[in-house]
Amino acid sequence: MALDNYPIAAIATAPGRGGIGIIRISGADLKPFIRDFFQRELSPRYAHFLSFKDAQHDPIDEGIALYFPGPQSYTGQDVLELQGHGGPAVLRRVLERCLEVGRPYQMRLAQPGEYTQRAFLNNRLDLAQAEAVADLIDASSSAAAKGAMASLSGAFSQEINQLAEQIIHLRMLVEATLDFPEEEIDFLEKYQAADQLQKIQQQVNHIFAQAKQGQVLRDGLQVVLAGQPNVGKSSLLNTLAGDEIAIVTDIAGTTRDRLSQTIHINGVPIHITDTAGLREAQDQVERIGIDRSWQEIHRAHVILHLIDARHTYTAQEEALRAQFPAQTPILTVCNKVDLIDTHSRAQLEQWQAKQDSQNHEVLLISALTGEGLDTLRQKLLEIAGWSTITESPWLARERHLQALQRCAEHLQLAAAHAQHDDQILDLFAEELRLAHTELGAITGEFSSDDLLGEIFSSFCIGK
Ligand code: GDP
Repeated sequence: MALDNYPIAAIATAPGRGGIGIIRISGADLKPFIRDFFQRELSPRYAHFLSFKDAQHDPIDEGIALYFPGPQSYTGQDVLELQGHGGPAVLRRVLERCLEVGRPYQMRLAQPGEYTQRAFLNNRLDLAQAEAVADLIDASSSAAAKGAMASLSGAFSQEINQLAEQIIHLRMLVEATLDFPEEEIDFLEKYQAADQLQKIQQQVNHIFAQAKQGQVLRDGLQVVLAGQPNVGKSSLLNTLAGDEIAIVTDIAGTTRDRLSQTIHINGVPIHITDTAGLREAQDQVERIGIDRSWQEIHRAHVILHLIDARHTYTAQEEALRAQFPAQTPILTVCNKVDLIDTHSRAQLEQWQAKQDSQNHEVLLISALTGEGLDTLRQKLLEIAGWSTITESPWLARERHLQALQRCAEHLQLAAAHAQHDDQILDLFAEELRLAHTELGAITGEFSSDDLLGEIFSSFCIGK
């Protein structure tokens, strides 16, 4: 992916109305543009209060112009920020005027993520940091925002780079030895290579565990509420969300479409989807709702199978459960325990214990009184892979986890080659090289254009 030096412009603030709206321009040399636009020069990093004028020299807006000459700027190129009033019409007019003045310099509208992409290509930040920019903007909880900021400031990249350096060091030793075959025999002992490798492996595992927490914090858990009509799915969603989002009625079949809500438990986003009650559809609309429910069920990380505590586990429930995807964890949730007497309760608990012993997890709750909900929340965190023991110092993505996993696998293979009687050193070296490449893909040292394109295109425009 090559750096494009032509100037780009975009509205950098969110669409809609706001106190301030910012237009950002980046290009290899913005001085001639600035002269044409303002009829004057701007001092670097100085807040100039100026009028932004149209072609007839009538003011469109007034505000602050900030000029950051490259390379000390976000993109590493010259950057100009025009901070005016945050109305969509006025911002559009200023942007159009910029493009007009910028035409001789081939200024164009920026693509999504193009500023950050330029920053990456100019080595202002690495790929994991660039991703953290998007994650910071998208963070849905304070914990996720804190983690994204840590990644952005390079905490995650630093761990990866330190690991890579250790692998490089070991690679250098092996490759030097390969040039002197007579030394190959005692290579491992001479350099305590097996020990070094083991230390690296331990570190990869440690970083993986931390990254896993970071990924849970970023992506959270997809939960689907499934069950017969009227068992209390909407009520549970409302209670967990703490406000009235689903329509609760006692007429069966009122939730005809999917309703989603994200709640946070310990900062972990839990995306909960309520589904239409799974029964024989009475009409076309209900049938569509039920089809969609099944789509959600197949997408979910965990299924909460709600049943009415008064009816316990009927053959119908059993049949429903049998249709759930086999690989997805299922929690059977008996709702409305507030409605059963002590005798039924004792029976239910007996059944629960029996099920638990057969690895079928059952929770007793009341969406109405809130009983059992704390246990349910803890259970969801556990399934998400959230550990209260491992801290998550930074945010990470699934892509990072996969790369770390592959890195660990190559190190494992390297270790196997080292243990082999003949100490196959060239294979050992090759696995180390592959492990190193995986780490480089995290920070963008070795990344395909396709991957880069995919990452940056998911950004918003103006970032
Ligand atoms: P859904 O069709 O599965 O979404 O069920 P709803 O959430 O609409 O609930 C159906 C009825 O059961 C409503 O009248 C709720 O107020 C009632 N309900 C739901 N949960 C509980 C509960 O835990 N205890 C009691 N007593 N009633 C509940």
